Amino acid sequence: MHPAPRFSEMPYTRPVVDTINANAARLIEAWDNAQTADEQVQVIRQWDAQQAELQSNQTLAMVHFQQETKNPDYKSEKVFFDELNPVLLGHDLELLKRVTGSEFRVELEAKLGKQAFAVWDCFLGTFEPAIADLKREEAALTTEYSEIMAGIEVEFDGETMNLSTLRGRYGDPDRDVRMRAQQTRSTALDAVSPELDRIYHELTQVRHKMATTLGYSNFIPLGYGRMSRTDYDANDVAQFRAQVRDRVVPLAQQIYARRANTLGLPELQFHDESVRDHTGVPRPKGDHDWMLKRAIEMFDALGADFGSFFRMMADCDLLDLKARNGKAGGGFCASVPRYGVPFIFANFNGTQDDVNVFTHECGHAFQNWSSRDQSLLLYQWPTYEAAEIHSMSLEFLTYPYMEAFFGDDAARFIEGHLEDAILFLPYGCAVDEFQHRVYERPDMTPDERAKLWSELESVYLPHRQYSEMSHMESGRLWQQQRHIYASPFYYIDYCLAQTCALQMWHAAANDRDGTMARYRELCSLGGSKPFTELVSAIGLANPFAPGSLNAVCDAVADTLGFS
Ligand SMILES: [Zn+2]
Repeated sequence: MHPAPRFSEMPYTRPVVDTINANAARLIEAWDNAQTADEQVQVIRQWDAQQAELQSNQTLAMVHFQQETKNPDYKSEKVFFDELNPVLLGHDLELLKRVTGSEFRVELEAKLGKQAFAVWDCFLGTFEPAIADLKREEAALTTEYSEIMAGIEVEFDGETMNLSTLRGRYGDPDRDVRMRAQQTRSTALDAVSPELDRIYHELTQVRHKMATTLGYSNFIPLGYGRMSRTDYDANDVAQFRAQVRDRVVPLAQQIYARRANTLGLPELQFHDESVRDHTGVPRPKGDHDWMLKRAIEMFDALGADFGSFFRMMADCDLLDLKARNGKAGGGFCASVPRYGVPFIFANFNGTQDDVNVFTHECGHAFQNWSSRDQSLLLYQWPTYEAAEIHSMSLEFLTYPYMEAFFGDDAARFIEGHLEDAILFLPYGCAVDEFQHRVYERPDMTPDERAKLWSELESVYLPHRQYSEMSHMESGRLWQQQRHIYASPFYYIDYCLAQTCALQMWHAAANDRDGTMARYRELCSLGGSKPFTELVSAIGLANPFAPGSLNAVCDAVADTLGFS
């Protein structure tokens, strides 16, 4: 028995704004008439059920559009939801102000869990109608950024490409090809970089203004609030970055030095960084359908629960993994709470990325599936940094099955994946520190920001050398990092989660079954607790605690043969 219809048969209904407004008014009235904590809980549950239905339709609209970006009907439904969101936000604000200020708050927290209230407090600290215009300006600027980046076209070796397709050449085994590909990217970005500087400058001004309007001294606490961070602050994150500088940067330098050695190069240049050897990146040994069969075998071997989860995903068409014309790029996992099922979207390109994206998104999906019976919709997904633990951990926990996908290349794939996990951390921390320093000093000029990025590169990526790439040499590589424009402070999340995922990898090497049990437990906890409590609930070291990276770095160094 399947819990859901096939994805293509799930009914989509465009919500009616008048009904939404009437429902919201009814809930407020019911709240104001509620005399007891139990009656208030009932109102919250009604609101939660309405949210689940709205979110289901929103996911359907969003996924349909991503699947067929040229379909005008799908586009108009997506636009409908984009415009509806501020209305929904306004209604949520009205109700949640009452909920968080309830005279029965202690009892409500006991019934529904403290985490929801902490997240709602955070949400209320991030919005007031007074900043509505600034929010619209912010959205328009980030759209402008996306349009510029998506519109970049380059000629490379006789082919017209965009930045995503050009990316496929950055790891080319032919050194000349990968160098020219990076130089082509540099030239293309030089042409738009004054615009990108202007957009980011305006974004920092708009965000600073929002923060001061809401009573903050700068954008940092508001940015943290928008990320629903309830249990740590910028000082904790600074402490984490210090550990990465002390412990991870030296290990990353060893990895880069070995790559240079393997490639027979006196020094590694920027365009060599993603190349491990002369053989090129490992590829799965079959196509999409073949990979799906291997995936079913892998999930069956992981356990009956994983097996039945994945068969359900395949049977209900909750996987859209093939690249095709008109389909949006990238990969993500969404959910349809009406049926308690997740949906995975990806674009397979025949490289090792397919396996990475697939195991990653399956981690998100398995978590959401495991959390489908949580008491509130909010708890079906954790906050971002915690959500990435499930996805990144599954990438590591599926190592024993990689032979099924890569055959003889499995060991090379695993070693490369482990190296990349370490190499990512310094870059991620540079992106994070950059944003803190930018929002601390909103009066910085674009050139001062570029200088700041160059300084951070010398701290976190001291090996880095560019060959005739003026865009990168001018300190503007960060302009390609979409999060810096569109999702401020969302990036360290991957580093924090990677630290936890590496601990899971390390633990699994000594106790496979026990670690899988901890993984399952983490998945079923969903978002019912904040990040640091989820981490400690399954016995992982808190990434903010001094020394938390030592054991995993020692284990990785040992596995990679550096100790
Ligand atoms: Zn993810």
